[in-house]
Amino acid sequence: MNFENTLSFAVEMDKNDALKGYREKFIYPQVNSKDVIYFTGNSLGLQPKVAKDYVDEVMKDWAELAVEGHFYAEKPWWDYHERLAKPLAKIVGAKPEEVSVMNTLTVNLHFLMVSFYRPTKKRFKILCEEKAFPSDQYMFNSQVKFHGFNPEEAIVEVKKREGEHSWRTEDILNKINEVGDELALVLIGGVNYYNGQVFDMEAITAAGKAQGAFVGWDLAHAVGNVELNLSKWNVDFAAWCSYKYTNSGPGNASGVFINEKYLGKEDIPRFEGWWGTKKETRFLMKPEFEPAVNADAWQVSNPPVLSLAPYLASLQLFEEVGMPALLQKQRLLTGYLEFVLNEIDKEVETVFEIITPKERGCQLSVFLHGEGRELFDKLMKAGVIVDWREPNVIRLAPVPFYCSFEDMYRFGQLLKELILSKK
Ligand SMILES: *Cc1c(COP(=O)(O)O)cnc(C)c1O
Repeated sequence: MNFENTLSFAVEMDKNDALKGYREKFIYPQVNSKDVIYFTGNSLGLQPKVAKDYVDEVMKDWAELAVEGHFYAEKPWWDYHERLAKPLAKIVGAKPEEVSVMNTLTVNLHFLMVSFYRPTKKRFKILCEEKAFPSDQYMFNSQVKFHGFNPEEAIVEVKKREGEHSWRTEDILNKINEVGDELALVLIGGVNYYNGQVFDMEAITAAGKAQGAFVGWDLAHAVGNVELNLSKWNVDFAAWCSYKYTNSGPGNASGVFINEKYLGKEDIPRFEGWWGTKKETRFLMKPEFEPAVNADAWQVSNPPVLSLAPYLASLQLFEEVGMPALLQKQRLLTGYLEFVLNEIDKEVETVFEIITPKERGCQLSVFLHGEGRELFDKLMKAGVIVDWREPNVIRLAPVPFYCSFEDMYRFGQLLKELILSKK
């Protein structure tokens, strides 16, 4: 596609966009009484208008039915979470029985490590990417110490090469082979939150499994953003939050994937609670734990229905649109943003360096040379919601569901004005 950095080109692209009707289905915050240009759907997705209806429905059922809502609500609460498994399974490339929704992301990863990080004297190491998302680092440290090992010895971080901004797959595979039979677990963020890199999940999973390790993925920045085939890749487990690309609302529930080969098995350790039991016999209140035959066996408490309601609402939109259409628009939209940045860069004389590699989802991370936080502050004042990371990186995530080509064009013009007005 031959892009042009003109308003008419951007408007034409929007006119031909198969998803153009979806912008209207989300609520845009306003700055100076205008819709913002929203680049932070990688941090908190916009609110789908339909979310409120789903929440209202639960509130109404609660008002009118009270405890009876568990069984007699329009969408009964006792198995409300089951409704999310099917649409999510499509998004992550899994079978519905391999997917469940519960708790929040870091909590779920801890729970999953109970099952999939079982270190022995010989095999105790965890392999991850260097500078993993802080919560993951704290989790690794505390898990390793909990099992009586030394984090410095047990946590193996794969580094980027000197002067490079992304990881090389070969370096990760080599490190996996080097750690060999000491490797207990590989757990990496499927899409890195900082540089937006998509890891080769298939190759890394295969390499980890070949060494006899469990392989899991933190899919916080991947779900709803890149193509996933967890079943086909033979991943052991994965977890993700729902408030980033899947627009479920702040701090909302997390999804988990557990490979079907572990379902219905007796010999896998797990922290258990009553919602993990078979639903047919759950209310017999028996002393013995009879696990659900699907990933719901990892459920602990009864689900937070008021949180699941907006998540379910959002997943209905994913059902309507489907990942292939989102991915198709994403390649064009992010490609256009990249083009616009490169065009503007010629005019402002090399300020931007895109540090995101070509293996990417919608996010571009841009290093600003000679510009500081001041530029970020001015952008925010002008109604561009971006995100700033130390030392000097802005992360831009043009989400295909609700961002437009015109947004990209207007952003470019504004950026140019702000930089040139200072020079
Ligand atoms: C956003 C994010 C989290 C957030 O964890 P919560 O438990 O939902 O607060 C964790 N890991 C990664 C990689 C993330 O990007």
